[in-house]
Amino acid sequence: MSGTVLGCIADDFTGATDLAALLARSGVRVKLHINVPDIDPGATDSDAAIEIIALKCRTIDPNLAVEQCLNAFDWLKARGAKHFYWKYCSTFDSTAEGNIGPVADALLTRLNAEQTLYCPAFPENGRSIFMGNLFVGQIPLSESPMRDHPLTPMRDSNLMRLLEPQVKGNVGLVDRLTVARGSDAIKNQLQQLLSDGVSHTIVDAVADDDLYAIAEASYQLPLLTGGSALAMPLPALYAKAGWLSITDTSPHKESVDAPAIVLSGSCSDMTRQQVAHYLTSNPGFRLDPIKLAGGGLDEAKNWLLEQTLDTAPMLYATAEPEAVADAQEKLGTQQAGELVENALAQLAVTARNQGRRRFVVAGGESSGAVTQSLAVSQLDIGAEISPGVPWTYCSSDDSRIALSLKSGNFGAVTFFDDALSSLA
Ligand code: ADP
Repeated sequence: MSGTVLGCIADDFTGATDLAALLARSGVRVKLHINVPDIDPGATDSDAAIEIIALKCRTIDPNLAVEQCLNAFDWLKARGAKHFYWKYCSTFDSTAEGNIGPVADALLTRLNAEQTLYCPAFPENGRSIFMGNLFVGQIPLSESPMRDHPLTPMRDSNLMRLLEPQVKGNVGLVDRLTVARGSDAIKNQLQQLLSDGVSHTIVDAVADDDLYAIAEASYQLPLLTGGSALAMPLPALYAKAGWLSITDTSPHKESVDAPAIVLSGSCSDMTRQQVAHYLTSNPGFRLDPIKLAGGGLDEAKNWLLEQTLDTAPMLYATAEPEAVADAQEKLGTQQAGELVENALAQLAVTARNQGRRRFVVAGGESSGAVTQSLAVSQLDIGAEISPGVPWTYCSSDDSRIALSLKSGNFGAVTFFDDALSSLA
């Protein structure tokens, strides 16, 4: 028993670390690559049963997303993976065109498979699905703060309606009443849907027990899709099937007790609270896309260079929905986002060159920009700071650094302090 069993593709970098953290809870070794590795997949034996490739393809053109995901798939397959997981956000973040559906369709075709399921539920973080509708806590997705997301505003809670225009085949549902009857009932229902010509099936889940039953019913399918939580039971099921062995390892740990920085490009409700809380006792500089467009980055860079290394300053573009809408109206949505992402990316490099080694980053797209600018190629997964947000360790410009990539709505109000104190 060696080599890669499960190959995962994540549509953003925070999602990839979230998935890695939940899989690593089982004790199985997980390897996380940033982008498709530049090495021949057959050159060395994989020492990890699960390998994840993190891409930044959530909001790009669907054709480009498909191309990137198929490249990742081919690499993982050449690595030996027999089963595949397509990971997206627990709030089903997507544009009207994709990219959840187009990528799933393309992966099914490449696998010569007829059916997959979609389950973004993450009960530990308050994401549940009932009768095909996604809830954030007790609120339907479309009424949650996700309705104001700068890039993927979610204005419908019904996952079947969201997925239908994105895929070629029919969309079905295994509802909570079936899920509650256990894995055999789920399996039968999936079989029935397949005979009815349904390739894409949303599956309800409101609690971890539901996810275990769904995973038990479906782990033999070549392709599963969802948030991180559905993947959590897979290592134990694979071990039971004799596909891998679990070596009970504790999370990776390195000593990186060095100067820190917080970078936030998320405008999600929880991040807004976290930023406000952190500013009550730490220095901060607000990045305004309108000012960036007019005056460039010098003011922010100079401010950062003035901050002594015994402080952990925060640079943030995090703003209220009205300010985001204003910037988008003046600059265009894409340009406003790119200005912020480029600024965070360049400031991360300035911070590293200044000697900072612990980076806490908020926002999926923002984390992607920062990780790419730090030229990181692989992350070792450490302990979780909060569910789905681990510390990770990597090399950047010949230095070891610690990176925590936080998805917008994850973590408690004190997250930034929690993260830094957990490594101090
Ligand atoms: P989340 O994890 O909350 O979804 P992301 O980083 O994925 O966060 O997405 C937030 C997007 O909003 C990024 O593209 C970022 O550049 C953009 N953004 C951040 N602040 C602003 C702002 N003040 N005005 C306009 N766009 C912004």
